Amino acid sequence: MDLRPTVSVVRCEGVDDLEKVKDAVLGSLDLIGGLKTILRRGDQVLIKLNLLAPRSYKSGATTNPHIVAALIDLSRQLGAKRIIIGEGAAVGHDTEKAFDECGFRVLATDKQVELVDFKKSEFVPMSISNGRVLRRIRVPKELVDSDVIINVPVMKTHDVFPATLGLKNMKGIIPERDKKRFHSWGLSQCIVDLNKVALPQVTVIDGTIAMEGMGPAHGTPVNLGILISSIDTVAADTVASLVMGIDPESIEYLRLASEQGLGCGIISEIEVRGLQVEEVKRKFSRLVLESGEFLKHGIRIMEEGACSGCRNTLSAVFSKLVSGDQIQLIGDTTFVLGQDAELLADFEGRLVKFGSCAKLICPGKGKYIPGCPPHPEDVMECVL
Ligand code: SF4
Repeated sequence: MDLRPTVSVVRCEGVDDLEKVKDAVLGSLDLIGGLKTILRRGDQVLIKLNLLAPRSYKSGATTNPHIVAALIDLSRQLGAKRIIIGEGAAVGHDTEKAFDECGFRVLATDKQVELVDFKKSEFVPMSISNGRVLRRIRVPKELVDSDVIINVPVMKTHDVFPATLGLKNMKGIIPERDKKRFHSWGLSQCIVDLNKVALPQVTVIDGTIAMEGMGPAHGTPVNLGILISSIDTVAADTVASLVMGIDPESIEYLRLASEQGLGCGIISEIEVRGLQVEEVKRKFSRLVLESGEFLKHGIRIMEEGACSGCRNTLSAVFSKLVSGDQIQLIGDTTFVLGQDAELLADFEGRLVKFGSCAKLICPGKGKYIPGCPPHPEDVMECVL
């Protein structure tokens, strides 16, 4: 008997067509044994969305509600007693607004399921006995009380990591304060430690409309039209990253999760059912801030460990300056941002310390723009 973890890859034609999406979800889950293998009559089910901001799924930023509709129907058919769909939007974004604008308020009403904004949840402390960075973490009561967690991340590039997939999507459950702290504590290991107590029972990666470039929020939609499912989230993420043309080993949280036994990250040990990676593979492009476009103007960017907040703010400001033909006005400047950025103490030259993570770099040198992330107007004022 083949005991390898299984991952299904199926086509999902007609991403706007509820019936076609339902068929694809069913097919995807059937290939890994069906939802019936994990869901028992009377179970409480939590469907974890990917709604970092109020942006339609057509942008590639958020979960396709048709997939969630299909999962609700399936769970109900199998006798789930209570079904919750939930998310906590990214720092600075309003989850309730995202529910409204992404169609989940209407869906929850139509299907008569509970809609939970994790930012307003009652949090329960959980100890992580095998945590490497975290020894305890607060998670929503709805998650602790659920028998089955169905994780529905969108397949996207990310500004800190090459990709954000299933493991990373679970970060949406924690309190906003901890989301910020994860960056200073070491984001990859924190994601892995969190999944030690919040690992989903099944992950369905939404590749109906994925995202490349300035992901996870402001990238370009990719009409990929696929779903990737597994009860092994690490294996699902591994297959998804290969589909995106990204080496799974280059995604630090994924490599650590595999090494620490959360699932299988070795492709030769994963059984891929349905379509094979080569049949659906499509190289995803990533935003690289330190591009020739900026270097030719003397702008150097050191961004190790920076998260979407600072990277997106800086790239938005630069885009504005490029389109206004003002980028050359900045002149020779080094920008440092992110928790892991380093600069030699004897650094000479014009320096901008961008965001609170970079505050302590080269004390006494350069200009510091406070904020987490800094406000674009403050950046404009500082650089021009
Ligand atoms: S200062 Fe910037 S890089 Fe650091 S946590 Fe805030 S937004 Fe992220």
